[in-house]
Amino acid sequence: MQSTPSTDTTFTHTLVYDIRRSRYINLTSRCTLRCQFCPKHNGSKQVAEYDLTLSKTIHADDILPLLGDVSAFEEYVFCGYGEPTLNLATLLTVAAELKQRGAKVRLNTDGLGNLFHRRNILPELSKYIDAISISLNADTEAAYIKHCQPKLPKAYAAVRDFIKLAPQYINSVSVSAINGLSEVNIEQCRQIAINAGCHFTERQLDIVG
Ligand code: SF4
Repeated sequence: MQSTPSTDTTFTHTLVYDIRRSRYINLTSRCTLRCQFCPKHNGSKQVAEYDLTLSKTIHADDILPLLGDVSAFEEYVFCGYGEPTLNLATLLTVAAELKQRGAKVRLNTDGLGNLFHRRNILPELSKYIDAISISLNADTEAAYIKHCQPKLPKAYAAVRDFIKLAPQYINSVSVSAINGLSEVNIEQCRQIAINAGCHFTERQLDIVG
């Protein structure tokens, strides 16, 4: 598929972008983590050829005109150099529209949405999200703090709780960790995912998308 970024007409933010047969939706630059391996903390907000810099709050009305023909895409993915659940109202409105049009919808998340919102947001997500990919990133709290530098206390416990809870609400739950991070045991990460009833995805350092 031709990968063409879609931008709205009033500003030049890349709000949706295509990789292979998926359309990605960029909702926010804000994040609950400051991962030391994140390209945005190393001078780049680029995924493939797309610059994901955002300098304003994104609303559903910004995204809805850019969804395109849902039959042309295998799935729509909420993802970006930010945590999509931090813009929860927009996420839910856009996801509801996608579901209504018959699209398959996936959320890529750091799994800290419940901690941030101080409630279980999975029942809300489960109405419109078919699949969820959760970044675990580490098998110990010490390694998680070292590599992900969470902004909120008790973040590692929160992502572990989210991983345990998610399969109760979402049909397809995948947990990922990155092979190549120091002090991270990738096999322990795999075990954490499998014990929670999730699929495990091993990512490689410096490969995005
Ligand atoms: S969770 Fe993702 S966007 Fe946020 S800092 Fe980490 S790698 Fe970057």
